Amino acid sequence: MPAGNAIPYTGYFNASAECWSVFTEVAGREFSNAILFGQVHQLSVDAYAVQHAGGRHPDKSVDIHLAGLCLILDRGVAPTAVAPRLQALASAISDWPHLEPPAIAWRQTIFDVAVADDHIAAVREWSAGVWEAWSPQRDRVTALLRALD
Ligand SMILES: [Zn+2]
Repeated sequence: MPAGNAIPYTGYFNASAECWSVFTEVAGREFSNAILFGQVHQLSVDAYAVQHAGGRHPDKSVDIHLAGLCLILDRGVAPTAVAPRLQALASAISDWPHLEPPAIAWRQTIFDVAVADDHIAAVREWSAGVWEAWSPQRDRVTALLRALD
């Protein structure tokens, strides 16, 4: 990991050091640009997290980031309005189900975003593909979100 990184490596995403460093580079770009941040940062974090389920990555984290994708991509919630809802969800639920990740080869990853000319379009396309791949778990994610009703 590069020194001076703004995002501490929590160690629980199931990611290689190389992949994590690409993520921090992409996230750094978003942090330094208000438009990128507002439009897609939440999508980037959520898509990256659920693409790195497994290993030591807790079910709670996977579930919450899936809920983030559901709010933005299915329900049209503005990305900047998602974090407080996910915080509310985190305190409303105590029993987090294990949602089995899709057994597929990902078509796109954070590496595609890192090299894209149009950052916003790349994040939207990547995150939509990730959520689509997780669609067998959509009903269970929707069930979790009922805790916010
Ligand atoms: Zn990775």
